[in-house]
Amino acid sequence: MIQREIYFDNSATTRPSKEVLTHYLRVADEEYGNPSSKHKRGQTARALLTEARKTLLSALGTKDGHVLFTAGGTEANNLALFGRAYAKERFARGCRIITTAGEHASVALPLDALAKAGFDIVRIPTKGGALDTEALLSALSPKTVLISMMAVNNETGAIYPTSLVSAAMRRACPDAVFHVDATQAFMKIPMTPKTLGADMITVSSHKIEGPKGVGALWVSDAVIKNRGLSAVTLGGGQEEGLRSGTENVPAISAFAEAARLASASFDERTQKIREVKEHLLSSLALHPVLADAVTANLPEKAAPHILSLTVEGFKSETVLNDLSGRGIYVSSGSACASHARNLSAALLAFGKSEEETDATIRLSFSHHNTKEEADVFLSALAEIVETRARVRR
Ligand code: PMP
Repeated sequence: MIQREIYFDNSATTRPSKEVLTHYLRVADEEYGNPSSKHKRGQTARALLTEARKTLLSALGTKDGHVLFTAGGTEANNLALFGRAYAKERFARGCRIITTAGEHASVALPLDALAKAGFDIVRIPTKGGALDTEALLSALSPKTVLISMMAVNNETGAIYPTSLVSAAMRRACPDAVFHVDATQAFMKIPMTPKTLGADMITVSSHKIEGPKGVGALWVSDAVIKNRGLSAVTLGGGQEEGLRSGTENVPAISAFAEAARLASASFDERTQKIREVKEHLLSSLALHPVLADAVTANLPEKAAPHILSLTVEGFKSETVLNDLSGRGIYVSSGSACASHARNLSAALLAFGKSEEETDATIRLSFSHHNTKEEADVFLSALAEIVETRARVRR
């Protein structure tokens, strides 16, 4: 019997939905014009971009602000950080940027580069998946020009209190700008620019069943009006001059379609995801082999789709490979971190030791996953743990 694949790696990427792929192909085939062209082919492509911007705004729960399309979450984060850092000439050496200790590499590494350029980068601890608000409050200084943090951590699912951070920032440094990397939050937890308290928001298409290589940076009217963000990609002046390059119309339009579909069934999808995770956790707690061998790293406030598990004494790479051999796909820490063969900064910031971090796998669910798949996963994991333990004895 060929066993069906079980895909528990939806935070790395999702399988695009059939509707989205059909939409993509139609637009790529029929709407091939360059949106900057003046003729009718160009105009209809441009109209699709306008429509996609409206759909994205509506999925974000706002009528305000600007949607700048990018080639994914990484590029949107880079635009937010470098674009803000170099927006004003007076932002010279010593200006402060505040972030957290557990950011994705697409935020952490641009900030390393800005530290080398003379910016004062302060990283707030996130032990147990909780933001150290005392440390944040004392880091706020009049020299702060930007705060950048994720809404949901990609490795633990921790939800950070962005609205609290935003309110504190507005009081202490009203000229600073608040960027939220919502790559793992968009269409997973309820969020709008208002509830996040954000001036800029990063979202990515391939995490919500859209095509890969497309995303967006939402930017508030105030930031645009005050010229609070500068371009980092210079060229033909597309996307309000803030992200040059011919727009990827089919991918952008398909991203909007994915957002529309996810938005329309948000409650239903998140409920399904929550049920799978809860079922897995309650079965794990009662499991004769795994209850003692596996620790669930549960933040106080967590998004429904991410589950971090430490399999004591087992290298995550080994567990990942053994599961992969059985057609079950999970990740170790995060896909990006595992490329670099680095220990996950987010898990270390969570409070895991190096050894535990190295023994941690991440499961991330979609609404296509089922409780039965969770059962198959637990049986496979138990078999792996028992077999390897026997070999060791
Ligand atoms: N931020 C977070 C929190 C992410 O999880 C990811 C994707 N792993 C990104 C940014 C980067 O997004 P993309 O893959 O679209 O470049």
